[in-house]
Amino acid sequence: MNEIAPRSGIRERIGLRPIINVSGTMTALGASIVVPEAVAATTAILPEFVEINDLHRHASRAIARLTGAEAGFVTASCSAGVSLTVAAAMTGADLARIEQLPNPAGMRHRVPIMLGHMVGYGAPVEQAIRLAGATVVPFGQATDVRPYQLRAALDDATAAAMFVVSHHCVGYGQLPLAEFAAICHERNVPVIVDAASEYDLRGFLAAGADLVCYSAHKFMGGPTAGIVAGRKDLVRATFLQNMGIGRGMKVGKESILGTIAALEAWERRDHAGVRRTEQAALDHWRARFGALPGVHVALEPDPTHNPLDRLKLSVDPSTARITAWELADRLASGAPPVIVRDHEVEHGYFFLDPCNLHPGEAAVVADRIVAELDAARSGPGSNREPASARRERRFSRLLSWPD
Ligand SMILES: *Cc1c(COP(=O)(O)O)cnc(C)c1O
Repeated sequence: MNEIAPRSGIRERIGLRPIINVSGTMTALGASIVVPEAVAATTAILPEFVEINDLHRHASRAIARLTGAEAGFVTASCSAGVSLTVAAAMTGADLARIEQLPNPAGMRHRVPIMLGHMVGYGAPVEQAIRLAGATVVPFGQATDVRPYQLRAALDDATAAAMFVVSHHCVGYGQLPLAEFAAICHERNVPVIVDAASEYDLRGFLAAGADLVCYSAHKFMGGPTAGIVAGRKDLVRATFLQNMGIGRGMKVGKESILGTIAALEAWERRDHAGVRRTEQAALDHWRARFGALPGVHVALEPDPTHNPLDRLKLSVDPSTARITAWELADRLASGAPPVIVRDHEVEHGYFFLDPCNLHPGEAAVVADRIVAELDAARSGPGSNREPASARRERRFSRLLSWPD
């Protein structure tokens, strides 16, 4: 493994902890390592004036080229993309309607979504839909959805249908996108896909989506922004929301150009080389943890089929003398702090995500985990705090912000 690369020290200077992220592209952790091309582009454009709608035209062409869509638009975030594309489906290019939102009187306003897709990413996806003034129409059961349920949810007041791609969605019993889109298109209802974290820039449109929303700051390593790609009339109507509810979600020149730079860097990226680096981290971890008492490790493919694996680390507290969530807490509170992917930790495991590591950090993560497990085995034993109590404790810490 490489030595830790020299870094700016910006976090230490302002009193922030120098965390190592093996959790994933999380807003709460600063999303991703922005690629050098996007850093250079944002820096270059910041001191310059631009005709912003020409910059948006430039972005539309770049997005269209990379996604195969007719047009594209850069938004403040994927979540803003969801709100603005729903608004677009409600208003079309009618400026009076655009100014009228979020009051939907006289417009198609219903947005069906499968119950198993009603997830959160720090905020509820259904709220991003309602923000446009739309009415969310959940259908199906969480784990079982049938075509007739979608057909019944579509009516003359339906503006669009929402389809979410996320590891948080129920992973079985859902309608596949192609079938979902075909049923919606029988009634001329456009399909909006929230594909915030997906690497695949073309597949959802190819499967029938009319609009797809991505995050620029996740896998792509762009600045904080969202990308909307799809049918030109709908993308135009999304852009026109800048004169309405989109104003409070505006994106600046630096994020527009930075997003284009990240998209173009994504196109040129040595994806196989990145995968090899991630695999080297996973192999290193597996070798270091494989024989530790009370620990079981396994590679786990990404649940939404992005081309990446994570290491699943399960902890048997009777042998390891620590629960998985205590281990996660000790890793996060030690030096350097290591933040693991712990959203399923109540089951006794967490994941290590290799996608956001700086050179040398994989070995530091391994050292920290081995050291904490060694200390736990020779220590006083688990504090026996239930996972639910830990969850509550962490949440109340959030509510006391800014203290
Ligand atoms: C992260 C995420 C979002 C939010 O993306 P932002 O660009 O941060 O707004 C929306 N939907 C899904 C499925 C996500 O994973």
